[in-house]
Amino acid sequence: MLGLMQEFPLLVTRLLDHAARWHGDTEIVSRSVEGPIHRTSYAEIDRRSRALASAVSNRLGIGMGSIAATMAWNTWRHLEIWYGVMGLGGIVHTLNPRLFADQLVYIVNHAEDGWVFTDLSFVPLFEKLQDRLPKVKGFVVITDRQHMPAETSLRNPVCYEELIASGDPGFAWPEFDENTACGMCYTSGTTGNPKGVVYSHRSNVLHGMMCCLSDALGLSSRDTIMPVVPMFHANAWSLAFSSLISGARLVLPGPKLDGASVYELLDRERVTFTAAVPTVWMMLLKHLEQNPALRLPALERVAIGGSACPEAIMKAFVENYGTDVIHAWGMTEMSPIGSLGVKSGRTSALPDGEWWKIKLKQGRAPFLVDMKITDDDNRALPHDGRTFGRLKVKGPAVARAYFKGEGAAAFDADGWFDTGDVATIDPYGYMNITDRSKDVIKSGGEWISSIDLENVAMACPGVQEAAAIGLPHLKWDERPLLVVVRKEGATVSKQQVLTHMEGKVAKWWLPDDVAFVDDIPHTATGKISKLTLRERFKDYRFPSA
Ligand code: ADP
Repeated sequence: MLGLMQEFPLLVTRLLDHAARWHGDTEIVSRSVEGPIHRTSYAEIDRRSRALASAVSNRLGIGMGSIAATMAWNTWRHLEIWYGVMGLGGIVHTLNPRLFADQLVYIVNHAEDGWVFTDLSFVPLFEKLQDRLPKVKGFVVITDRQHMPAETSLRNPVCYEELIASGDPGFAWPEFDENTACGMCYTSGTTGNPKGVVYSHRSNVLHGMMCCLSDALGLSSRDTIMPVVPMFHANAWSLAFSSLISGARLVLPGPKLDGASVYELLDRERVTFTAAVPTVWMMLLKHLEQNPALRLPALERVAIGGSACPEAIMKAFVENYGTDVIHAWGMTEMSPIGSLGVKSGRTSALPDGEWWKIKLKQGRAPFLVDMKITDDDNRALPHDGRTFGRLKVKGPAVARAYFKGEGAAAFDADGWFDTGDVATIDPYGYMNITDRSKDVIKSGGEWISSIDLENVAMACPGVQEAAAIGLPHLKWDERPLLVVVRKEGATVSKQQVLTHMEGKVAKWWLPDDVAFVDDIPHTATGKISKLTLRERFKDYRFPSA
């Protein structure tokens, strides 16, 4: 017998309907690409998304199943494009401008993007690349007539604001199956070519709701949310959906992500919740350190993920600014949130010192995510906080395949996705990432967690950033090399770093050497690029070797 409840496909336009109807005058503040701060509301975003949808379907032929790319910063217009195109049954493919040109060309051609929506900032890039993008029909430049480049060689350039002006703000969204694709994001592919992850309306709605839960990001209409995480990184950590579900006020930082600009918006707009990768917070904290009078009184919590959040960053927020930190882990393939380091019923009774040890971990699985750790033969391993294994996940917002069937080896026959991460799970259910399986340091048949080494090293006074990599060693196979960037003006020495680390990690984990460098390379998604580092240090020999 079927239930007798209404058919109500979980389409992302329902979120916009809700925000426009019940939080219609709630403000969306953006730092525009053109410069000035722009203010609008959910009601207005709703009208303009509908107008955009009607215009792109009439004039550009975008509709059910069309794949349209965006290369854009977080602004109100980017939000309108997401809802306008997705609302038609089209697919928004977000392009990460930090990728190398060859990777971008590969991704756009592989996805077979039809139209590309580009911010002004990227017009020169596409002018250069377009000859290598034969399937792209044309480019919508996300600006008004006044700011359109006077001359451009772009194929079929269209002015965004003119497009909207020609559309119908009363356009009625079509209804279709909630399993229809609506978003596409490539993983940066540190090994092999990037692979496409394809989100559905249903997965985005469910994942967005999940992120609002109090044991997740705890979002509500009382929040002012600033997603510093770009909409082109891993589905913007749900925030382009969960903010609308919660009806929160939204602050979009546009192209300026440096410490001073991020601080300016956090402060002036009284942001209560924000989210980004650790490197963004390093820049902000550096700015705050250099300007000791600055405070963050409105900021209640910050979600940090994308790579392991060093203890030093967490402590700085909590102890110096009274802002709580939620350490989150996830992947593009998981929409992306997979776990969150928030207190549970059992851990809220723990003394502070005990809780901090757990808070540093990547956290617990929220509703709609299941996880397990297994050995190489797929046997489940115990949740004792010590045994580590391959981390596998399941859920309605977890990928079941990559676009065009690539990378099938990551998907088990029994429906689990192998994350490629190595982790422990403790008796309280908190998962701790030891490493990406390819970054773990293999010394004498045992594993050393590069993340743990980095965490401890980054708490050493004078250390700005640290990365641990395994390099070949005659006797032990691999031994850790610690690569360190000193804080401005600091003179911290190898011996001081090692002395600081002693007693905080097992003795045999201590790095064999410390190399000081001016910068540590990062990937397009803000992770330490271990691949580049290993390449840089390929001729390096340990002093003991
Ligand atoms: P990409 O591979 O393109 O950089 P993702 O952002 O999807 O894209 O990367 C997911 C990976 O990032 C995870 O598998 C994990 O290795 C790492 N990661 C994400 N969050 C954390 C975290 N909080 N701690 C440690 N690693 C993390």
